[in-house]
Amino acid sequence: MTADDRPIDASKRETDDGPGNFLRDVVAADIAAGKNDGKLVTRFPPEPNGYLHVGHAKAICINFELAQEFGGVCNLRFDDTNPTREYEQYIEAIQQDIRWLGFDWGDNLYFASDYFDQLYAWAVDLIKRGLAYVESLTPEQVREYRGDFHKPGRESPYRDRSVEENLALLEKMRAGEMAEGEATVRAKIDMQSGNMNMRDPIMYRVLKVAHHRAGDKWCIYPTYDYAHGQSDAIEGITHSLCSLEFEGHRPLYDWFIEHLDTPSTPRQIEFARLNIGYTVLSKRRLLQLVKEGHVAGWDDPRMPTLRGMRRRGIPPEAIRKFADRVGVARRPGVVDISLFEHAIREQLNATTPRVFGVLDPLKLVITNFPEGHVEELEAPLSPEDPSMGSRTLRLTRELFIERDDFREEAPKKWFRFAPGREVRLRYGCLVTCNEVIKDEAGEVVELRCTWDPDSKGGSSPDGRKVRGTSHWVSAADAVDCEVRLYDRLFSVENPTGDDDVDYLTHLNPSSLEVKRGCKVEPYAAALPVGSRVQFERVGYFAVDNDTADGNLVWNRTISLRDSWAKVEKKQGPPKKG
Ligand code: ATP
Ligand code: MG
Repeated sequence: MTADDRPIDASKRETDDGPGNFLRDVVAADIAAGKNDGKLVTRFPPEPNGYLHVGHAKAICINFELAQEFGGVCNLRFDDTNPTREYEQYIEAIQQDIRWLGFDWGDNLYFASDYFDQLYAWAVDLIKRGLAYVESLTPEQVREYRGDFHKPGRESPYRDRSVEENLALLEKMRAGEMAEGEATVRAKIDMQSGNMNMRDPIMYRVLKVAHHRAGDKWCIYPTYDYAHGQSDAIEGITHSLCSLEFEGHRPLYDWFIEHLDTPSTPRQIEFARLNIGYTVLSKRRLLQLVKEGHVAGWDDPRMPTLRGMRRRGIPPEAIRKFADRVGVARRPGVVDISLFEHAIREQLNATTPRVFGVLDPLKLVITNFPEGHVEELEAPLSPEDPSMGSRTLRLTRELFIERDDFREEAPKKWFRFAPGREVRLRYGCLVTCNEVIKDEAGEVVELRCTWDPDSKGGSSPDGRKVRGTSHWVSAADAVDCEVRLYDRLFSVENPTGDDDVDYLTHLNPSSLEVKRGCKVEPYAAALPVGSRVQFERVGYFAVDNDTADGNLVWNRTISLRDSWAKVEKKQGPPKKG
């Protein structure tokens, strides 16, 4: 299904029982009022200095979906103003991730660096009109003069340089005749402002670094705050939707637009960032997790990055659905992760084939089944959706079942394997357990059973009741594999909630459990990397990237049910961190 033919989710509208999407209401009202000639242009503006995470996914969904819904356009623009931190690799990766999520910017790919000439011309313009100046205080002095929230700023002694002197100094900066830190360009606004962003913010700094696109052309670069709003204006963005931390920057962005002859006047509206429990969503922290080896990489399946989620087997549709359902709010909050997990299960339930995988194999021998004999049995890949087709299971004398499905001392209501009990092998046959073989240590190593040859396919030949059903694989053709079970990366809901405690101390020590010697049926073993399935009764799994010749690795995307909910029911909800 493409993004276009997705039905509009009713939950996107402001309702009594959902958070709604107030941005949608603002946009709808502006369009109805004929603002911007009824046009809508949004954008997603990443800095290419890290991989996208689920928080970015929310911003992507907001911008692209509004554009889709109202027949507008959504640009992808890289805010690549800082050549010291940006890398080419991220530009490619970010595009891949947005496409994977299901969105397409068409020809509307832009780079703030393409506006460097225009931004520079505007800086000259501000200087000529006495609205900007070249600062010669050291960076430490600039900081000190700026004051703080409680202390008003002081004006720099260089603030009133003549236009000629400023232009000459700017030219020197641009020509590479100034060292890094020797000079900056500042907007002349208000050193007494209660808003720190308005205290003569820096527009340009000297950085003797090549730029991934502009090459060696520049040795001064615009700051994010100077470039961002003007880039929006150059592109004719009608609605600059950004997260709340930019609220305090809005007066500055408006000041630039007001004092410059820009081609358009974007309207900036802030929304609350997405925060999810039991994880962190900040590139800085995610980078730390990678660099210090707390995870295996940016695409570690425990990471909240889109790469990590893809590798884990989370379908992009689930991320989009989740983003829609949490709505868009003005005030910050933490979203319950179970909402996300619910969207993942719902999507996987509707789309994945059901196959057999045994995580903890126990051998089962059918003693009255002829040696070397094979019963080929057709089994549907979905009990509900025949269009998914079927695969052939091969019933043989030796099988593997899940160790957990056997109890030597079984209570009355135990319906799976136990001495003397009859159990259905799903799509296979009925077997009765007659004998339990143990090793010297007393561990159960094998069950000896007999089958009813009239129960092929797993149905009861005479209507006798067999309540328990187990999954199984044939020992003759099951494929060995490694299974990686993931849990939440942090063991508290809000790992960064306490400034006095390093969030790393909250890492969940058992967020990864590796199981080897697991067995899957041949059909599943032949699926390509990235395929998603449900191992019946076990959970949802995806074939991991590490799968290579002779080495099959599965990631558990998510369990079938929310095991945490059960725990929480018993123990009460987790304490807010
Ligand atoms: P981080 O804080 O993780 O380092 P960032 O905001 O610096 O991210 P950008 O590349 O600047 O990363 O983000 C691009 C866009 O994504 C911005 O418009 C930003 O508002 C938005 N965004 C980032 N994180 C979130 C989030 N958690 N929820 C919603 N939008 C977000
Ligand atoms: Mg940012």
